[in-house]
Amino acid sequence: MNSHKSISVADGVYFYLWVGQSMNCNSVVLAHALAGEKPHVLIDPGMTDGFPGSEPLDSLAASMATDGLKIEDVGMVIGTHCHPDHFQAVDEVVRRSGARVALSEVEYDFLKGDGRGFYGSFGTAAPTVVPSILLHEGTLDIGFSNGWKVDALIAPGHTPGSVCLYLKDSKVLVSGDVVFPGSIGRMDFTGGSVSAMRESIRRLSELDVEHILSGHSSAGGPLVSGKNNVVRNFQIVGTFF
Ligand SMILES: [Zn+2]
Repeated sequence: MNSHKSISVADGVYFYLWVGQSMNCNSVVLAHALAGEKPHVLIDPGMTDGFPGSEPLDSLAASMATDGLKIEDVGMVIGTHCHPDHFQAVDEVVRRSGARVALSEVEYDFLKGDGRGFYGSFGTAAPTVVPSILLHEGTLDIGFSNGWKVDALIAPGHTPGSVCLYLKDSKVLVSGDVVFPGSIGRMDFTGGSVSAMRESIRRLSELDVEHILSGHSSAGGPLVSGKNNVVRNFQIVGTFF
């Protein structure tokens, strides 16, 4: 059974909402965003294995296929951060597609170091992929085709190197595990910080956003859409500090 729900958010922006039971995350695909033969960008591939019988990556691939998108045509995988539920499948996506990988430097350092033990605590091995791009704050330079402009914002708090992606034209914020509908990411492990989270939320709240695509659903729903709802969401999570 397919455990991702596809939501077309804006032109070429697909939100793959994880509605399965096992540990995994929501994914985002920027379709036909890159010049060249592998045109899709996949943000947060999730996991290959879930509970027995649940294979989240295969589910994602099946859901993408219903939108006419092949995981083999992914040219770039971006990790908002490298927690297993977001990033464990990256090696398999690279195996299927030959995609390049982008991750912030701080996240990659974690992956090579303490991340191994962290993955081990979930009974899985840390990815061995070497990112070809280390993300920094600012406009992404990864070979976008005309019409695509994506900014990376380093937004620590959930992890020290978490990245949010902002599509200025479509006013989409891919927020990873920083902000959720009515909630924020946990700050009590792998370098989380309450003060850094407060500052990241403040910075993100200043962006002009129509859609927040977060790494997980919450009691507040699957995604936040509409400028007024986005403003209200930042007001709600701002009261947590
Ligand atoms: Zn996380």
